[in-house]
Amino acid sequence: MDFSFNEREELLKKSIAEFAQREIAPLVDKLEEEGFDPQLIPKLAQMGILGLITPPKYGGNEMGHVAKTIVMEEIAKVCPGVGLTLEGHFVCTYLIQTFGSEEQKGKYLPLLTSGKSLGSLAVTEPSGGSDVAGIQTIAKKDGDHYILTGRKCFISNSHIAKVHAVLAKTGEGPRNLAVFIVENSFPGFSLGRKEKKMGLRGATTGEIVFNKCHVPEKNLVGREGDGVKQVLATINRAGRPGMAAVALGICYASLREGTRFAKERVLYGKPISQLQAIQFLLAEIYTQAEGARLLTYRAASLLDQDQPADIEATLAKYTACEAAFKCARWAADIYGGYSVIKGYPIEQLFRDAWVTIPSSGTAQVAKMVLGRHVLKNL
Ligand SMILES: Cc1cc2nc3c(=O)[nH]c(=O)nc-3n(C[C@H](O)[C@H](O)[C@H](O)COP(=O)(O)OP(=O)(O)OC[C@H]3O[C@@H](n4cnc5c(N)ncnc54)[C@H](O)[C@@H]3O)c2cc1C
Repeated sequence: MDFSFNEREELLKKSIAEFAQREIAPLVDKLEEEGFDPQLIPKLAQMGILGLITPPKYGGNEMGHVAKTIVMEEIAKVCPGVGLTLEGHFVCTYLIQTFGSEEQKGKYLPLLTSGKSLGSLAVTEPSGGSDVAGIQTIAKKDGDHYILTGRKCFISNSHIAKVHAVLAKTGEGPRNLAVFIVENSFPGFSLGRKEKKMGLRGATTGEIVFNKCHVPEKNLVGREGDGVKQVLATINRAGRPGMAAVALGICYASLREGTRFAKERVLYGKPISQLQAIQFLLAEIYTQAEGARLLTYRAASLLDQDQPADIEATLAKYTACEAAFKCARWAADIYGGYSVIKGYPIEQLFRDAWVTIPSSGTAQVAKMVLGRHVLKNL
């Protein structure tokens, strides 16, 4: 098993790190205040970032899941919120390209890869996110349209995306669910609250409201009843690997900031990096980051080989998000009192790390999946 990057991947990592420094780093304070800045979309598209997992036939470059992980990690090292924005986009893209009709792919994927629109996947509702089959949004067939009524919350890219993949009920019964591609211009589509999150504030997260929203029948993805299967596959193969990559970026940003501060902060006439207690904290951060890295890239590599990766992606997401929180906490320890002052990068990383944990499924749900896997297969 070889986890080193090839030449093309090394080059990608370097060019994305430079891009993130040049285009995103100067905006971090603004993104923290205002959420994602749509002016970044054409720049992300120009770098080929929005089409990383999409075939060239639909405007993508299909560099694959390892490449997507590299890109999201490098961007998250500079602004994890922009990483979450990409995650919201990729889950929409993945769902349409995997389960959509040729007509849907031909119409929507070029919009998504070219940056004419970002995408979102709208599943969660105020009634609960973990119970995917328990959603309340209804889609009623009416001639050659479906009429959607309901409310989605916590949706990444809610107020930015023009194309949304939306899960709704087409009848009674927990399995009677379907995904619809909904454009923000459809009659009855509106936006609700934009959330003020504690972290990952560089991503816009909010509510989408369907008030008798008219969706053409041809925008039904697959068939009625396919919704849960499509959404769970998308969360497993794009959502969780994406959040693992964002968390990984936070792990290494914590290592970078902790190390920098340890070398600069002088106590007792010498840098605190010379104190063994501080070296141990750095060792803990490094250990967590490297462990999360192996799991995250293993999942991405399996996806590139079209191998089953649901368990590996869940393991990566759970481990990397928990690691991000530990890494940010230990880096905050190194900062002492400065860790709580706004303007010091570790304060933001600490908040960002916590927000990765419920995104794309909570830690408890991940553990439930992993526990069942252990009991059944090991
Ligand atoms: C920053 C951010 C971005 C997000 N982006 C999106 C998005 O783009 N699209 C989208 O659809 N959703 C999105 N979400 C929503 C996210 O998927 C949900 O928050 C998550 O699934 C949990 O749902 P909930 O918050 O309603 O908690 P609930 O489902 O109400 O869970 C409450 C508690 O019960 C626990 N629990 C639930 N079920 C079980 C179980 N079976 N066994 C043990 N414990 C259980 C949970 O772990 C949690 O502790 C986002 C969330 C965040 C924070």
